[in-house]
Amino acid sequence: MKSDGIEHAIDNCMECDICATDCLFLRESGESPAAMARRGITASEAYSCSLCGLCAAVCQQGVNPMEMFAERRREAVSNNEIEIDDYRYMFPDRINNVMSVYRQESGIDYSETDSFKDADTCFFPGCTLMTYSPALTIETFKRLKSSGACQEMWTECCGKPLNQLGLQQRLENMHNNLKQFVKEHNIKRLITACPGCYYELRDIFKADELKIQTVYEVLAADNPTHNTTGRYTIHDSCPDRSEGVFGRQVRRALEQQNCAIVEMTHSRRNTICCGSGGQQSHFRPDLVDEVVQMRHEEVKRAGADTLVGYCMSCVLKYDGKMPGVSVVHALSLLLDVEVDYKGAKDRAGKMLSGTHGEQLWEKIMAE
Ligand code: SF4
Ligand code: SF4
Repeated sequence: MKSDGIEHAIDNCMECDICATDCLFLRESGESPAAMARRGITASEAYSCSLCGLCAAVCQQGVNPMEMFAERRREAVSNNEIEIDDYRYMFPDRINNVMSVYRQESGIDYSETDSFKDADTCFFPGCTLMTYSPALTIETFKRLKSSGACQEMWTECCGKPLNQLGLQQRLENMHNNLKQFVKEHNIKRLITACPGCYYELRDIFKADELKIQTVYEVLAADNPTHNTTGRYTIHDSCPDRSEGVFGRQVRRALEQQNCAIVEMTHSRRNTICCGSGGQQSHFRPDLVDEVVQMRHEEVKRAGADTLVGYCMSCVLKYDGKMPGVSVVHALSLLLDVEVDYKGAKDRAGKMLSGTHGEQLWEKIMAE
């Protein structure tokens, strides 16, 4: 039986090819979403899509190919068409995964700040920020706390990687744990730094009374402005594509800092994915390399010398891959915090090399 998303694509797609214009995966397939849906999408195709949503944003017929591929991922997991456990090194609900082991190995420890007492409001930095930039994580928390905006920091994952991988049961368990924690600690408000967490948490808690905010709306007011030279361009993140909450707030905050902003061909609603979406780099690193190169060309055409991201996953995807362009996280600029995440992905790769690396890998993959 075909799923709702697939039926909808078959019935409504006009095979105009507009969605394939800027999608390397659809271009590579050489078929329209309807044609793929009719003949049946393979598991390998579903995991080649970055779930970025650009196709749905440009489709005039209201077709959502992204949802079709996401559904197919869930189906592939439940039918055991993919050895999803081979990717357990990135499951955030396992004690030892690549990020938690990186933190252990790098001496990154939030036990002092994450004690955890009941709190009306918590800062929720998200896995990638808290793993690869402890300096930004701690500084953001300090500023939020000293301004009275929050009391505690909650170093948990929002579950998005499980969602992207198609792991429905694990995702449901994680959501229940998050809800339980919020209830037990009387949390009424979460301040997020990552667009992935922001929208994911909003979905999880939509029926409950929990306010989700971004760090930019809470911190923006008390930042002093200073003169900044150069031309900045902003890489918008896929989860922010439809509503543009982070995109607007980050642009406004940078303008208040006197940053000259230039726009790339693909921005805001039409942004292109960095390759972190859908964990694409674990399944199709070749497509990711190509998209990073495309983005680099866009930055140069826009005449910018600094690429600013507001999602640490995007920033790290571009870090070191754009000669002549400085790649920074928006919070580094706004809070004037020294960059500690440069080369973090290389360090994570090196962590797993040699004899010690083999032992760590065994620990990460242990059942
Ligand atoms: S999904 Fe939409 S944009 Fe893509 S080919 Fe079909 S009608 Fe055109
Ligand atoms: S979600 Fe992104 S990668 Fe997937 S088909 Fe749509 S545009 Fe292409």
